[in-house]
Amino acid sequence: MKKYPGDIETRAIHAGEPNPRIGGAVVMPIFQSAMYETAGEKSYDDITYIRLNNTPHAQALAEKLAALENAQAALVTASGMAAISTSLLTVLSTGDHLLAQDCLYGGTHDFVTRDLEKFGISYTFIDGNDPESWEKKIRPNTKAMYVETISNPLMQVPDLKAVVDFAKHHRLVSIIDNTFASPINFRPPEHRFDLSVHSATKYLNGHSDIVAGAVIGGTGLVEKITHRLNHLGGSLDPHAAFLLHRGVKTLAVRVKCQNDSALQIARFLEKHPKISKVNYPGLESHPDHGRARRLFDGFGGMMSFELRGGVEAAESFIRRARLPIVAPSLGGVETLMTRPSRTSHSGMLVDERRRLGISDELIRFSVGIEAPSDIITDLDQALKSVE
Ligand code: PLP
Repeated sequence: MKKYPGDIETRAIHAGEPNPRIGGAVVMPIFQSAMYETAGEKSYDDITYIRLNNTPHAQALAEKLAALENAQAALVTASGMAAISTSLLTVLSTGDHLLAQDCLYGGTHDFVTRDLEKFGISYTFIDGNDPESWEKKIRPNTKAMYVETISNPLMQVPDLKAVVDFAKHHRLVSIIDNTFASPINFRPPEHRFDLSVHSATKYLNGHSDIVAGAVIGGTGLVEKITHRLNHLGGSLDPHAAFLLHRGVKTLAVRVKCQNDSALQIARFLEKHPKISKVNYPGLESHPDHGRARRLFDGFGGMMSFELRGGVEAAESFIRRARLPIVAPSLGGVETLMTRPSRTSHSGMLVDERRRLGISDELIRFSVGIEAPSDIITDLDQALKSVE
């Protein structure tokens, strides 16, 4: 871990900014140039070119993101899946084995179960909350362990300390998808994780207008992943880099607001007679609440819930709510909701989804920065009209 000066709110604004400022510009300009004049570079990776992830904007963003999580280095990618797939394909080779949390974002779950085997890489799922069971699942060829800080869509918080201890003990690379928590609420390098990956499409950018990703960690690993990304080609384009840079600056105010609003909304839903279950780590009733309280600076803006009355009631509620936009993403300034069984987790086998507890009626809810009282009033009217 590296410690950067200033609180996280300050680092989000000032870390990684060009010094001196380019032409005095307060905001770093868009570098709409694919290639840069040759300046005596000695290796291919040093030539400045957008795909090689070393343009001024790629570097400024990498420095800012590393500073946010107090890590040595970072890499910005074309999407969250580019960050995840490139990281896994860097730390794992043919013949290797991965231990992965059983309840993951659908795209990651699909990549692990459908694509990794084509590279000769095997996997075993683990229950993130049952460290005793991991010893039985590890193999001599296990090389990495993969979890999510807050799992999608059930909002479970795995035993993160046990994950790091286990990975260190067995010399595995520990990788965590920190998208849902964001660096404001949890910074994996401070907890000795080797790699933190993000869908920057979500909280880091925060405005639902680009797709981007990030890998944050130690210099050696990030360099290896950059080299692989340079060949796989998942680099962020200059305009998206500009927007991400702008979005990250307001990360702290957005996420703190979302932490506060989500807690109020979760408390309202938990008490509502038409709601049967709310998954939000900030609620005392959440099984991982104690752990979340110890580890996190805030509980985040993501929750999921079920209505009494099943899929029909869920669909009717979704139709009647006016403020939340029905869309399958998260982490933006607008409140979004979706049924994961229909969207993010529709690629999973139905039996597998049910075994994990992802019911067809489950609604995933991403709290935006609207006034929480307006959201609650709207949810209340939508719930009242559900039979
Ligand atoms: N990780 C999590 C937790 C996600 O929710 C998502 C997308 O929803 C991803 C990764 C993939 O990110 P992207 O869509 O930017 O590729």
